[in-house]
Amino acid sequence: MTMASGLLVAAEEASASTAALAWFDQVRAHCVMHDLPPEPPVYDLLWRYVRDENHDLSLAVDRAIAAGGFDLPALMDMRVKHIDGITTGEVASLVEVVHDQARALTETIEVGQTNLAKYDRALGEGSSALSTPLEAAALAELLENLGQATNTMQEANARLAADLAVAVTEARTLSVKLGAAQRAAVTDQLTGLLNRRGTFQLIEQHQREARRSGQPVSLALIDIDNFKRVNDRFGHALGDDVLRFVAQHLADHAELFGGSVGRLGGEEFVTIIPGKPVQLAASMVDQVRAKLASQVIRNAVDGSSLGRVSFSAGVAADKADDTASTLLERADKALYTAKRMGRDRVVPDRN
Ligand code: GH3
Ligand code: MG
Ligand code: MG
Repeated sequence: MTMASGLLVAAEEASASTAALAWFDQVRAHCVMHDLPPEPPVYDLLWRYVRDENHDLSLAVDRAIAAGGFDLPALMDMRVKHIDGITTGEVASLVEVVHDQARALTETIEVGQTNLAKYDRALGEGSSALSTPLEAAALAELLENLGQATNTMQEANARLAADLAVAVTEARTLSVKLGAAQRAAVTDQLTGLLNRRGTFQLIEQHQREARRSGQPVSLALIDIDNFKRVNDRFGHALGDDVLRFVAQHLADHAELFGGSVGRLGGEEFVTIIPGKPVQLAASMVDQVRAKLASQVIRNAVDGSSLGRVSFSAGVAADKADDTASTLLERADKALYTAKRMGRDRVVPDRN
């Protein structure tokens, strides 16, 4: 079971709250049917499922339901795989490593401080012994003691230097791992574009920038036309290839007009067009659309034709009081108009 994207359904419904209540009822029904506790991680996942916000998640839930089992552990596994991106387990183990390193470093430094204090004491005793005349034998013993203390200190210093070098290497490795984990949390696995979370962050970042600079920023919500048919005709795996192809097409062209692109979910993408008012942004997106629609897509394996793939887009310009969601809503209304007018076109928001 897969449903139309949440944004489109919301646009088609008589009112947004009626639609939300219908989804809420479905979430509730699933909780009851599968005997799941009505807790935030559960209804958050079910909410995404009933709105088909994350296609891979929807497929996983469909499969679990078809197999007859959909319990809490299975649901939590799905969260790890499809929602949380970087898993809480991964974060916990990285934090554990940081703690271990900090502990080891503290111990190393404490040992260094103790050695230094001992050496300082040995030097102090030596210098007070030297303030009175000494017999040759006592002088020899004193020198021997000072020599030993110096050796011990040198060895301790060498160990400290080696331990610190290891700690620095480990800290660097850890920082690389944390960077990778942060990137994974905002990256869509199928296309390599920003995922939904990353896309929202991107929109908000551009909104902040636009307000600071006073420059316009526009957003295009792009939805592949009749994509369900691609899946139905060629299968889900080739459907995924088409998604990657369109993602790459958008990314290549987004760079040309200085924007970025993300996958909002399913076959929906967002591209940001900085510095351009809505009409100009729409005509840029339209060029990207025309170029895609003019190409015949071929299966790289056997060269067979998959025909043409087109998209429709709604474009809206950011307003001072917009949030990412309200800006997306206006773009979605324009997208809905583009679909109604026959698809394969770009419609600017006029509000
Ligand atoms: P429209 O022109 O009105 O947008 O029609 P459509 O068929 O593109 O739209 P609809 O929302 O009816 O169907 C979207 C389809 O996209 C249904 C879903 O199975 C498919 N889909 C969503 N995400 C993925 C994915 O990650 N991989 C594949 N292969 N298909 C996906
Ligand atoms: Mg869609
Ligand atoms: Mg579509």
